[in-house]
Amino acid sequence: MTTDLVLPDFDDFGDQTIRGNDSPDEATAATQALLQADRESEQPTIDDPGETHVVLERGICREGTWYRDAEVRELTGADEEAIAAAGASSHKILSTLLLRGVRSIGNEPMTRQLADELLIGDREYLVMEIRRVTFGDILEFEGLPCPHCEELTDLSVPLVAIPFVHLDDPEKTEFSVPLRKGRTALVRLPNGADQAAVLAIRDGNGAKQDTEILNRCVLRIRNADGSEVRRPPAIELTMSDRKTILKTLTDMQPGPRYGNFAYTHETCGQEVPLPINLAILFRGV
Ligand SMILES: [Zn+2]
Repeated sequence: MTTDLVLPDFDDFGDQTIRGNDSPDEATAATQALLQADRESEQPTIDDPGETHVVLERGICREGTWYRDAEVRELTGADEEAIAAAGASSHKILSTLLLRGVRSIGNEPMTRQLADELLIGDREYLVMEIRRVTFGDILEFEGLPCPHCEELTDLSVPLVAIPFVHLDDPEKTEFSVPLRKGRTALVRLPNGADQAAVLAIRDGNGAKQDTEILNRCVLRIRNADGSEVRRPPAIELTMSDRKTILKTLTDMQPGPRYGNFAYTHETCGQEVPLPINLAILFRGV
């Protein structure tokens, strides 16, 4: 196992990119604790890898029919090498994980095009299931410092404890977002291709990334008088409306909320945020 690979920050993990960079440093202590624990125990306990069948939140649509069944498989040394070869780009690592760890979606073998088509939330759910069949269901932390009382804690976190958002109606692909002045945006949820387009904007300009995702995901704006504008340029939307739409795109996205995991430290009774990232899920890969 290599531990010197530069892994993506949590804010590069899917919908967090869209939400913006709130707390990039939070995951550091957890990641370091986990990698340290891995170095200390050469043979981590791996429970039964279990089920390889996954039912996605959205899935893919073919000729009017939705296919939500997917198959994942356990990663091998060859996969580990391929992931390491993907370099430091979080999107490439995620894509490599999906291409190698997912056997099929519906009746189709996994391809890059399929991965692009999947909702960000389905992609992140598949990553969780690949983790489950590869390393088991429990994330083990040793010597995790509590930021409130500074005590070091050992912690076992089952993957099921990570908050998860379900779609009310998996087949609903368009959502209404109320805006100011009686206007409404009709939007679709971002998928893998949208995520790649946003991550390709690497000049550190978050507003440009926001513009990109809005240009791709806002289908129409309905004015108060009922008239509609198709594909409105996102730079012409007001800042307020942009923020409202982006928040909805993030909130409505189904799947695991890796960044929202927190636990209660028994000794001091305080809640401790513990954002889960790729390095934690895959033990540094
Ligand atoms: Zn504490």
